[in-house]
Amino acid sequence: MKDALKRYFGYEAFRPLQEEIIGRVLNGKDCLVLMPTGGGKSLCFQLPAIISDGVALAVSPLISLMKDQVDALRTNGIEADFINSTVPPAEINRIMQSAKNGKLKVLYIAPERLSVPGFENFLRTLRISLIAIDEAHCISEWGHDFRPDYRNLRSLRQKFPTIPIIALTATATAKVRGDIVMQLGLDSPQIFISSFNRPNLSYAVIPKKNALRSIRALLDTHKGESAIIYCFSRGDTEKVAEQLAQYGFKTAVYHAGLTAPVRQRNQERFIRDEVDIMVATIAFGMGIDKPDVRLVIHHSLPKSIEGYYQETGRAGRDGLPAECVLLFSYADKFKQDFFINKTEDTAEQKNMREKLDEVVRYGNLATCRRRFLLRYFNENYGETVCGNCDVCEPSLKEVATNDTPDEIGSRSRVPNRTSYGELSEKLEYDMALFEQLRALRTQEATAMKVPPYVVFGDKTLREMATFFPQSVKALLQITGVGDKKCAQFGETFLTVIHRYAQEHDLHEKTRQNGADATTIIRTDVKPVYPGSTHDETRQLLLKKMSIDEIAKCRGLACGTIISHIETVTAVDPLVDIAHLKPSHDRLKMIAAAFTQSKGTALAPVRQILGESYSYDELRVARIFILHRP
Ligand code: ADP
Ligand code: ZN
Repeated sequence: MKDALKRYFGYEAFRPLQEEIIGRVLNGKDCLVLMPTGGGKSLCFQLPAIISDGVALAVSPLISLMKDQVDALRTNGIEADFINSTVPPAEINRIMQSAKNGKLKVLYIAPERLSVPGFENFLRTLRISLIAIDEAHCISEWGHDFRPDYRNLRSLRQKFPTIPIIALTATATAKVRGDIVMQLGLDSPQIFISSFNRPNLSYAVIPKKNALRSIRALLDTHKGESAIIYCFSRGDTEKVAEQLAQYGFKTAVYHAGLTAPVRQRNQERFIRDEVDIMVATIAFGMGIDKPDVRLVIHHSLPKSIEGYYQETGRAGRDGLPAECVLLFSYADKFKQDFFINKTEDTAEQKNMREKLDEVVRYGNLATCRRRFLLRYFNENYGETVCGNCDVCEPSLKEVATNDTPDEIGSRSRVPNRTSYGELSEKLEYDMALFEQLRALRTQEATAMKVPPYVVFGDKTLREMATFFPQSVKALLQITGVGDKKCAQFGETFLTVIHRYAQEHDLHEKTRQNGADATTIIRTDVKPVYPGSTHDETRQLLLKKMSIDEIAKCRGLACGTIISHIETVTAVDPLVDIAHLKPSHDRLKMIAAAFTQSKGTALAPVRQILGESYSYDELRVARIFILHRP
């Protein structure tokens, strides 16, 4: 299994539960898998499909996704195809023939296909290895996305009694869960429920005062990266998109008022990285599995926590840090109250009101937001502080609340500034090389007519820009580089990396399997612009002033000064801050606590060390630990 994982997908290790689930399927047993978006559900049926004889049937309602999924499999060297209403009949015949001939490992079908006369007979001619039912909650009327066509699936268990069924979903309450098992007729299924925590997502709520300014500040820290902005109404989406476009941001809009072809086109442009920012109503999102969305902003209050979690869940599917920011105002609540009051059904009205109240509670929390979200879904989060929400880590708010518009443009992008997740996720990469590799990826993808992420994900490119692989062997060590992709793209990417490494006198770094990638190297980061607030702090630093002195001198809070120093040191590793260094003994204690907490968040470290270490001291120490190894 491990071998196939590396060879086909280029991954080193399984994510939680994947191995158990795959084992179960390979044993021919049914199971139900509940995993959050981005948890890695697809692999749970794709890997057993590769290992087993025959073809796996993957049922999915998301027709628009099938092509991308199939392209992604093929790029990894796995024979796959799809049949749905968009495929012309002659083509369907060809695909059916190649399935019969045992040429396919995975065949995607839409659920309505099962009611097409003759299709079941065709299925009987196949050697089916397993049946995967994606978005399995669609079978339940209790779920939020009931699809009558899913009822067709009931017959599968009877027609194919010995073939394992694996049902997968990202959203299921206990009631829906029971319904899925019953409706599909799963045979003593094992139910795998993974944690719904998404540690790589940071959560923040900021007051909606000057929405445009906050949004711009946030987007400025994610230049050239993908972001989604959810708005309340069609009018809002148009307005926000237009305002952002005036500032030079590349935006597209998506709402139910647009014609289907326009919506489709805009979605496509977003998926293919032709525009960075999608400004949308909640109509947007189902059927999007773009893995590299780095920022999800809610311009207005969501209607429910369920909705909020689902929408924010579209961020960071690739496991890399991503931000979720809610712009909070009571005016927006009152706007929703107005609509709720117009609802005729009183039970429904009460329900809507309760859901909205929970959202307001979320906005007003004085305790960890992650904990609240997980509790809402009945999950007991073990920690009281997560270190990656604005309550646990107030610096997460700063970008959107502190800056004046003039400084915003000068804020340099520091990849992990906003999310100090697991150390193993903390890659500090060469940004200029990364940009070159991204351009190369887009070029390859365009030639192949697939979305850029199908070629290589951001994580893969970031690792390349960290380790500078110079040989096929080294390239194969990079996450996401399997045999097929290495053969197909290896030379092209190696050439660019090699040239860049030579120009900048960089050398290949060994990537030890499974080891944390904490190497720090940056040859090209945007400067801290002269005259910016960061620069002012830097100038005073150079005069060897202490943090207190700088704060007093500038009339700013110490915390603000520290965040300037965080930025300045991340951008310029050579700036001399030796005079801020904590004493040897304290630094040693703090470093040990960071290691013990296996992360870079402050709160767990403070728990270990106790009150005699202030947050400010820990933050400063962290700079020395991260940037001055
Ligand atoms: P889901 O369907 O649960 O939303 P996906 O199957 O799309 O999630 O997986 C999310 C991302 O995680 C994809 O980019 C996928 O390639 C990646 N992924 C899945 N399993 C692993 C793994 N074991 N190691 C590294 N990346 C993985
Ligand atoms: Zn928290």
